[in-house]
Amino acid sequence: MASFSEATVLDVRHWNDTLFSFKTTRDQSLRFRNGHFVMLGLAVEGKPLMRAYSIASPNYAEYLEFLSIKVENGPLTSRLQHIAAGDRILLGQKTVGTLVIDDLRPGKRLFLFATGTGLAPFMSIIQDPDTYERFEKVILIHGVRLVSELAYADFIREELPRHELLGEMVSRQLIYYPTVTREAFKHTGRMTQAIESGSLFADIGEPPLSSATDRGMICGSPGMLKETAALLDAHGFQVSPALGEQGDYVIERAFAER
Ligand SMILES: Cc1cc2nc3c(=O)[nH]c(=O)nc-3n(C[C@H](O)[C@H](O)[C@H](O)COP(=O)(O)OP(=O)(O)OC[C@H]3O[C@@H](n4cnc5c(N)ncnc54)[C@H](O)[C@@H]3O)c2cc1C
Repeated sequence: MASFSEATVLDVRHWNDTLFSFKTTRDQSLRFRNGHFVMLGLAVEGKPLMRAYSIASPNYAEYLEFLSIKVENGPLTSRLQHIAAGDRILLGQKTVGTLVIDDLRPGKRLFLFATGTGLAPFMSIIQDPDTYERFEKVILIHGVRLVSELAYADFIREELPRHELLGEMVSRQLIYYPTVTREAFKHTGRMTQAIESGSLFADIGEPPLSSATDRGMICGSPGMLKETAALLDAHGFQVSPALGEQGDYVIERAFAER
């Protein structure tokens, strides 16, 4: 396991039977940009079983936090979902990813489009003071099937606005828009529909999408990515062509569909 380091699980939270999050110790040599992902896993029969995971904690935190799916019979997550405080996990030593605000052209509003565990990198981005310095408004849209999948909803609504350092910026600048597709909720339906119909903008009291003022980050399943990118393209947005090159929006695959 030479190329991996170990971290100790500090805390585990089960949101429902398909979703959990956990905190681990952080080796201070592991540096990352908010929005990055890292390889994470377990030793199985003496071999590392690793998967990509977005880091949900901000890069100034002393711990690392991850939000994970529980895939039935998933090689890693069928095991990982049973971790408890004190257990050891494996972590890659390199952090990478395209969801970085440096790759966005200057703009006024930042739209963060997430479905499911695609929320994870945005949890780190909404806890980054730089995000609020660069954008006047940060609009986090989280699409899920069930209300119980709205991980961190209370943290975003209740705790973050009271945060010692970020609270004021969050209260003034962050708009959280959760939407649920398979249960009754305040906002229902797909996020792309809410944008196309204009209901999202009516609900949050903001003007419609404009490539002149808005920038975007997308993280979700390949299907959601394609749909959201097509919507932004149709509004004249240009995708960042490659890491380190600025665009109007950036994308990351939260997982590969099989
Ligand atoms: C850049 C990147 C970042 C990622 N970040 C995260 C993260 O923060 N949290 C996380 O839970 N997963 C994340 N993933 C997916 C993760 O790498 C694994 O696929 C996941 O942990 C399941 O592992 P597994 O071995 O149990 O099943 P796998 O064999 O890896 O996956 C089996 C199938 O489950 C489905 N699936 C996998 N992951 C998800 C998911 N997150 N949501 C819904 N369906 C899924 C897909 O259909 C997949 O083909 C990320 C993937 C990539 C490429």
